[in-house]
Amino acid sequence: MKADVTKAHPVGGKVYLVGGGPGDPELLTLRAVRLLEKADVVVYDHLVSSAVLDFVSPSAERIYAGKRRNEHTMRQEQINALLVKLAHEGKQVVRLKGGDPFIFGRGGEELQTLAAQGVAFEVVPGVTAASGVSSYAGIPLTHRDYAQSCMFVTGHLKDGTADLDWPSLVRPRQTVVIYMGLGGLPEICRQLISHGAPANLPIAVVQDGSIATQKVVTGTLTDISERVTQANLKSPCLTLIGEVVKLHESLAWFAPQSLPVAPQV
Ligand code: SAH
Repeated sequence: MKADVTKAHPVGGKVYLVGGGPGDPELLTLRAVRLLEKADVVVYDHLVSSAVLDFVSPSAERIYAGKRRNEHTMRQEQINALLVKLAHEGKQVVRLKGGDPFIFGRGGEELQTLAAQGVAFEVVPGVTAASGVSSYAGIPLTHRDYAQSCMFVTGHLKDGTADLDWPSLVRPRQTVVIYMGLGGLPEICRQLISHGAPANLPIAVVQDGSIATQKVVTGTLTDISERVTQANLKSPCLTLIGEVVKLHESLAWFAPQSLPVAPQV
């Protein structure tokens, strides 16, 4: 479908699909900050940090669209319909998502609805978790000695199994980043080992990357699930797999305890 939209059915409003980054508000783009300051209404997801929401103008309406796992406050179709309605009312709407809207963010689906309804839109990229979280954990995604490529996959389980292309994930000299994989971690590690990954392959799970509550737990495919349970990690967590994880020990630089803990939204 082409986004050649709006000229045919001009409406006053516009939807800005904006990436809010992984949590630290300093990682917002200038474009995102400017749009948050001038929006009439901001429709935001669970993953958006409260410090990012501080940039929303006090006069703007804020609508929480949820999206915590298993607790979808609004169904995707309701969110799509809401965005169309607000734009048809002539509003400048910021649809604010965690990370980057085009990476496991359903941003494309929301835009398809807007395009079909003749609503004008723009996309503002954000720092995706893979990039932001790995930076704040001191784990380079590529490194000439360890990994020449990097894959982003979702570990979200369907019927208790992750439907992933396992042979492609166990190739040597690459880094695999798993979004939404916390619940399925034991199954993911089992599958990787049974598809040929070394049982001692380094792996890190990072909770709340880039904000005060960040925790990094490292281990191997064999022991990481137990370590994560012991550390009592909670969502959101990003999983990074590959030899680059070894670099965390020498490259970790972020000292989250020096930051104030942001209140939950
Ligand atoms: N569009 C987002 C991803 C949405 S999927 C992006 O580009 O980052 C949600 C998943 O992203 C979470 O389950 C988790 O795996 C990851 N994630 C997002 N922010 C995170 C953070 N600050 N720390 C750890 N994981 C994060």
